[in-house]
Amino acid sequence: MIVTDNIDQVRQKRWQDPTLSWGLVPTMGALHDGHLALVNKARIENERAAVSIFVNPTQFSAGEDLSTYPRPLESDLAMLEAAGVDLVFTPTADIMYPAGFQSKVEVTKLSRFLEGASRPTHFAGVTLIVCKLFNIFQPTRAYFGQKDAQQTVVLNRMVHDLNLNLKLVICPTQRASDGLALSSRNRYLSPAERAAAPILYQALQTASQLIKEGNTRGKTIRQTMRDLIMGEPLARIDYVSAANLNTLEEMDALEGDVLLSLAVFFGQTRLIDNVMIYDL
Ligand code: AMP
Repeated sequence: MIVTDNIDQVRQKRWQDPTLSWGLVPTMGALHDGHLALVNKARIENERAAVSIFVNPTQFSAGEDLSTYPRPLESDLAMLEAAGVDLVFTPTADIMYPAGFQSKVEVTKLSRFLEGASRPTHFAGVTLIVCKLFNIFQPTRAYFGQKDAQQTVVLNRMVHDLNLNLKLVICPTQRASDGLALSSRNRYLSPAERAAAPILYQALQTASQLIKEGNTRGKTIRQTMRDLIMGEPLARIDYVSAANLNTLEEMDALEGDVLLSLAVFFGQTRLIDNVMIYDL
């Protein structure tokens, strides 16, 4: 497994044999089984698999957890080696954003809803770094988790709008046995918060079940999720949404493809989760 922070070395390796397909998994490290599911799919579907580990400063805003974000590089590399990854790219912020950097990549409208309403500069940072990683690797396929549902919608738009020559592959959310979506941020939770956090998936599942039983009033579905989460004293809701999966706009009458999503604080830790319901 090659581990490098050098862009030229990545390019050299990538184009050593241009006939080989490459799968890329962009990550911020602190890897867990959710990341590994993406890595395994990338390995199965491509002749070579690459992972990037970069805690991207441009997708954090002031007051967020950039400085405290976990960075267990040694154990991440051991996991990736065991998973059979060919190349790991571990750049520094100076390598990705050298002095004089001033370019932007933005998906304007889709970036404003949901996560974007709470984190206004977040997706501009995501699209910028992912576009740069795509240009550096020129992967055949790139792998992302449904856990970050809006990210997949925004990136799909970017790939389409900018005619990027690769396929995005979206992988299902990996969960702990009690339903909590795996996340690098789960390690911030106190034992009491960790015990309370499965309420998020329970609320999503209850809402999903109600919809499938014919309750398609958006307001009722959002209120049901709110009530369930507010029953948990350690939880503080940021948003709860029942939106159109393609436009990300809130819906009054749920129909078509629906994204149920939420962001909830447990102490300082902000967790997100979602479920999708198709063809209503
Ligand atoms: P991150 O390191 O949090 O930026 O995540 C890197 C990639 O892993 C993103 O595409 C995430 O959506 C994906 N991911 C994170 N958690 C999970 C999970 N529990 N299941 C599946 N994919 C995930």
